[in-house]
Amino acid sequence: MRLYLAVFALLAAVHCEQLFIGDQVLRIHAGSEDHIQILKTLEEDVNNGLDFWTYAYSTERPVDIRVPHDRLYAVKDFLKENNIPYTVMINDVQELLEKEKAEMVSNAKMERSTKDFNFGAYHDLDTLYSFMDTLVASHPNLISKVNIGNSYENRPMYALKFSTGAGRPAIWVDAGIHAREWITQASAVWIANKIASDYGVDPSVTSVLGQMDIYLMIVTNPDGYVFTHTSNRMWRKTRSVNSGSSCRGVDPNRNWDAGFGGPGASKDPCSDSYHGPNANSEVEVKNVVDLITGHGNFKSFISMHAYSQLLMYPYGYQCTDVPDMSELHSVGTAAIQELTSLYNTRYEVGSICKIIYQASGGSIDWTYNVGIKYSYAFELRDTGFYGFLLPAEQIIPTAEETWLGLRYILEYVRNNPY
Ligand SMILES: [Zn+2]
Repeated sequence: MRLYLAVFALLAAVHCEQLFIGDQVLRIHAGSEDHIQILKTLEEDVNNGLDFWTYAYSTERPVDIRVPHDRLYAVKDFLKENNIPYTVMINDVQELLEKEKAEMVSNAKMERSTKDFNFGAYHDLDTLYSFMDTLVASHPNLISKVNIGNSYENRPMYALKFSTGAGRPAIWVDAGIHAREWITQASAVWIANKIASDYGVDPSVTSVLGQMDIYLMIVTNPDGYVFTHTSNRMWRKTRSVNSGSSCRGVDPNRNWDAGFGGPGASKDPCSDSYHGPNANSEVEVKNVVDLITGHGNFKSFISMHAYSQLLMYPYGYQCTDVPDMSELHSVGTAAIQELTSLYNTRYEVGSICKIIYQASGGSIDWTYNVGIKYSYAFELRDTGFYGFLLPAEQIIPTAEETWLGLRYILEYVRNNPY
């Protein structure tokens, strides 16, 4: 194992890949409002090297922080001094990353020889894009690939459009706006294939596509996604250059024109929740906004994130109830019942602000405010055993259960025109 580690470290160094040897993810159980405030102060200090996987907000939810190896002693000491209890959620981040990488390498080898796409594995951008081409080619009358524009680093951004007739209202589903949330892109590919193969077979899918189009964007932040493969698995943001700062990237889910720059977003370019210089500054966000606006007839907008097992509706930027709250809540609750029925995976339903934290500039707040009533965001598995490093063996079960929840929403939207 030691030799393997050394070889891996060497290879990674050659590829300028950031290593996380000995980094731990600590799960912190804030017991009081004082604890929350202390954690928030830690969170706001972008120079301390701490990577908040979940944010400090309430005593109800644990706060998960990746602590670099060389900060472990100090951070644990600090927590003890302040009587803030914690457990070690991940003992060595690099160990999990190596396992993930080794599985990807051996899967890629297998896929090359069998020519079969394995839905139970994580893939790089090129492989996902080429699978999308395969899917479109095998369902030419159902699916087309829409290039909605290019990313900051000039990669094409593709939405798969499922359509059986012109001029229809549409439903938007996206994944991977946060680069490191790999379970979302992986689930979205499975779901794309599921919709394609269930059309004409599953009466529910068939009838939804008889009246509406589905746009599915599997990789909404392609630059960030590539960066998680080549350089830093923990990258969340876009890759744009911030003028006057050496830190790159904007949090693309703090960049929408809904309460932009308000609470729950950072004005510091070095922060993982940096909102950017202005709303829609990120071309990846702008491209989606332009598509939605230009189309003009989206009835539902669903965004996939990880992790925490939540189904959320607006608002995030303020804690007041949206006018459609009771309907959104009951549809969400029913969707989650479907999801849970498969593997008993437990979800919670609520508004972003009430269920996790106040966060401004999020996509579904903007879509709701421009009139897309059925705006939802999923936070997929898990609740913090592996966090962002969910093992590949959980991809298919996660996709299967998510699909049941998603399909419920699609059907509901079809049955409730407005
Ligand atoms: Zn996210």
